[in-house]
Amino acid sequence: MSTVPDASWLAERLIPWYREHARDLPWRRDPTPYRVLLSEVMLQQTRVDTVLPYFERFLARWPTLEDLAAAPDEDVLAAWAGLGYYSRARRLLATARAASALGGLPDTVEELRALPGIGPYTAGAIASIAFGRAAPLVDGNVERVICRVDRRTEDPRKEGRAGVWARVAALHEASEPADPSALNQGLMELGATLCTPRSPSCDRCPWTECCLAGAEAESLPRKERKPPPREVRLVSVVVRGPRGVLLVRRPTEGLFGGLWEPPCGVVSDGDVDAWGVGRTERAGQLVHVLTHRRLVVDVVRAERLDDLPDSWCAYEERAWVEDLDAIAVSELARRIIATADGEGTRRGGRRR
Ligand code: SF4
Repeated sequence: MSTVPDASWLAERLIPWYREHARDLPWRRDPTPYRVLLSEVMLQQTRVDTVLPYFERFLARWPTLEDLAAAPDEDVLAAWAGLGYYSRARRLLATARAASALGGLPDTVEELRALPGIGPYTAGAIASIAFGRAAPLVDGNVERVICRVDRRTEDPRKEGRAGVWARVAALHEASEPADPSALNQGLMELGATLCTPRSPSCDRCPWTECCLAGAEAESLPRKERKPPPREVRLVSVVVRGPRGVLLVRRPTEGLFGGLWEPPCGVVSDGDVDAWGVGRTERAGQLVHVLTHRRLVVDVVRAERLDDLPDSWCAYEERAWVEDLDAIAVSELARRIIATADGEGTRRGGRRR
């Protein structure tokens, strides 16, 4: 392998490039620890355009860490509706409550990592962006940029990930004058705007002179193909009444934990009729893809629902709901209800 580009050279070119080209994003204007925490948790596996209105709404409703820490779970989950990956909202709340009890978010990676809900990436982001500490971070964008500039051919999900973290740490050590916030954000910005998965804009890249990827850029990082998600067949029973749609709340732990949905579970043909559902009608089928599972859901409209099978998840509450925006429902639940209402069965789903 050719010698990897010099760390100080990379940092020297990246930081001014970031200062000149950084997108104007609300969390960058006033990077307090709370705003960094909120934005970084929301941005995990979610596009910037999607996050923007949620970030503004959360700040308007809970302007401080302490305000968020004092909010009821149900309110925060409902406000998160549509952003997906609800486990992030629960982690965010756990972090906010623990940090609030300490008097605020701490400023070192070690102390941040000791809080519930904070992983190495988020700790690095808060320590560097909010507190100016030379803390490395690696997300998908950073991983891609580093694998390409060094032409790293190992699968970064395996042995290579530690090497990528070490390389970012080396950039911080070599950076003079240091600007940990601009360095980390520059790495992420480069990956988000120029060093994109397809058709990277190498001609505009500050590293183009020394990048080792060359014609191989699009094939890096090299990752082994994941096994396809396991298919799970489910049925969901949608009952509408004068007070809205019948929803049940899942237990807090596990998939879609704490969220409301039409009753949904594994079923054999014909079982539905045994639960006191009255007249039923098949409304359609939808496919919802998660990281490890591909859910194929048959949606059934029913007149009523007296019993649920013991084999289904032990739902904690039942309620008739008119306004889906007022409670925490999963995207899958929204799609099931839309299917029952004849509003289409678009394929889709978020990975969690
Ligand atoms: S030169 Fe191209 S492949 Fe290399 S880091 Fe820049 S955008 Fe990525």
